[in-house]
Amino acid sequence: MGTASIPGRGTGMTSVDIGPHYLGVMLGLAIGDALGAPVEFESLSEILAHRGDPGVADFEPHRGLPPGSYTDDTQMSIATARGTLDAHVAGAFGSTAEAAPRVWAAYQDWRETQDDPHQRRAPGSTCLSALRSGVMGTPDIPLNNGKGCGTIMRIAPCALLYPDDPFDWALACGAMTHSHPTGYFSGAAFALILHEVLNGKSLESAIEGARDRLQAQGFEADETRAVLETVLDQHRQDMPLHERIINTGAKGEGWVAEETLGIALSCALVHPTDFSAAVLAAVNITGDSDSTGSVTGALMGALLGVDAIPREWREQVENAALLTQLANDLYRAN
Ligand SMILES: [Mg+2]
Repeated sequence: MGTASIPGRGTGMTSVDIGPHYLGVMLGLAIGDALGAPVEFESLSEILAHRGDPGVADFEPHRGLPPGSYTDDTQMSIATARGTLDAHVAGAFGSTAEAAPRVWAAYQDWRETQDDPHQRRAPGSTCLSALRSGVMGTPDIPLNNGKGCGTIMRIAPCALLYPDDPFDWALACGAMTHSHPTGYFSGAAFALILHEVLNGKSLESAIEGARDRLQAQGFEADETRAVLETVLDQHRQDMPLHERIINTGAKGEGWVAEETLGIALSCALVHPTDFSAAVLAAVNITGDSDSTGSVTGALMGALLGVDAIPREWREQVENAALLTQLANDLYRAN
């Protein structure tokens, strides 16, 4: 495994236990998802018209489910965590290629739950059809031309435990369902950034590191790399956050993976010490609010640790005990 620097965060006398940051990632992604879920299909003007300014500020019921209920983003992140742990326990961590079928099997288990109306929470059509094909996608075995955010929204656990390298592990897990390089490179870049932040790097230098890693992948990673360049440029110019969001990628709505990545990074860069402010900024947009909320929640949890997340949200979010158990298992498996 390539996680020698864990659990010591930073170096020497100032080393910090990152267990609370693992928990921050797993609870943060579910909380961001649950905050965004009620407005996934509302524009910003609809969000504001229905609630007044500043829009979503707390959990709300959705789809007949209680406040704090999450969607497919968290369901699939749980599947990523379970598949990764399965591979680890089974001794299949010799390489990414050896471990990958365990995650694919966990995604198939998730797909079977989607026949239950109570569990079906706006799953992505690319994920469902790719899994129904019965073939595990890889960069060399493309299934479609999808670059929806179904990759990046489920990939955070790849930064917490991995066979060789978090970037390669996330790339493999993303390419199982989405065959456009921007789909899987966005997930891989996000996992690398999360991993570097967990190891004490600043967010800005973690983004620069991911940009350089994408540069080394060649032209297929250009679209993802360009979004990271834009995010860094906008930050240097101190651009207002709402302008950064609408200028991320082609539409700035987060339905495609590179936009979800760029929006989450910008929200975290503008609110680096405030979990709620960053996640609510990612949710109150025109676009895929549960996915931008979930990815931002994972990132802020990695940056700040679980104590930075409001206690009421930690207690109310669906399946908090399961998410806590998975975070602990992933942490201990290192
Ligand atoms: Mg969703």
